[in-house]
Amino acid sequence: MRTATNVISLRGATKQFGGLVAVDNMDFDVTEHEVKGLIGPNGSGKSTTLNLISGALTPSDGEIVLRGTPITGLPAKDIARLGVSRTFQLVRLLPSMTVLENVMAGAVFGHRRRWGRAAEQHAMAILEKVGMARQARAHFSQLTYIDTKRVELARALAGEPEVLLLDEWLAGLNPTELQAGIELIHALRDEGRTIILVEHVMDAIRSLCDSCVVMSSGKKIAEGTPEEVLSDPDVVRAYLGD
Ligand code: ADP
Ligand code: MG
Repeated sequence: MRTATNVISLRGATKQFGGLVAVDNMDFDVTEHEVKGLIGPNGSGKSTTLNLISGALTPSDGEIVLRGTPITGLPAKDIARLGVSRTFQLVRLLPSMTVLENVMAGAVFGHRRRWGRAAEQHAMAILEKVGMARQARAHFSQLTYIDTKRVELARALAGEPEVLLLDEWLAGLNPTELQAGIELIHALRDEGRTIILVEHVMDAIRSLCDSCVVMSSGKKIAEGTPEEVLSDPDVVRAYLGD
């Protein structure tokens, strides 16, 4: 039997903000090619967990391990170089730059660094993949909301990360866009990418995730397949109590 390789592991990862324990002793592993859902009510600590993994925040306690190497407390730019890319709950692009330049920045500062012409060619290939090649020269201000999301995803992909963190990437899309968005993440899944998906759209969780970690008040309250966790009474209670 082949043993799955852990790409990311959290070992007792904890984050306190003053008296609030936003992430409380989290343990989970994400194996290669796995799509791991991270779900839970608002304020349960999902974004903070992604911030701990990406290095935007330093854990108060515990350890984050990337392919066997502790990355706990490293600066975000170093963690990005080592192979962790993310999108933000609120899109963060550089408005003075074109779509292409934003995605090239992802290639230049990412895991597999490319420069100049190589970065540009790679960025164009990624824009093609997310359906934005025709708007490569457009500026951020000219884009629709879903297109800003596509560009942000392209930027995260451009560095060829070991693991991609998506923080409510589907939020705010209309039903047609949502379908297109889910299809795009399905295509990434089919490429065998390793993804941590923070999401409220349950249809997306069901169809995309191999397994899910459920958070409530900073703690992991369940882990299993989407079917398992979504039928768990503790999970249902945590959502209804929201
Ligand atoms: P989720 O993404 O699951 O909605 P968050 O991780 O954003 O939840 O937040 C978890 C808790 O931590 C919330 O109570 C939130 O108000 C708090 N929190 C998040 N970031 C900070 C911060 N930088 N400073 C203080 N409290 C924070
Ligand atoms: Mg959040």
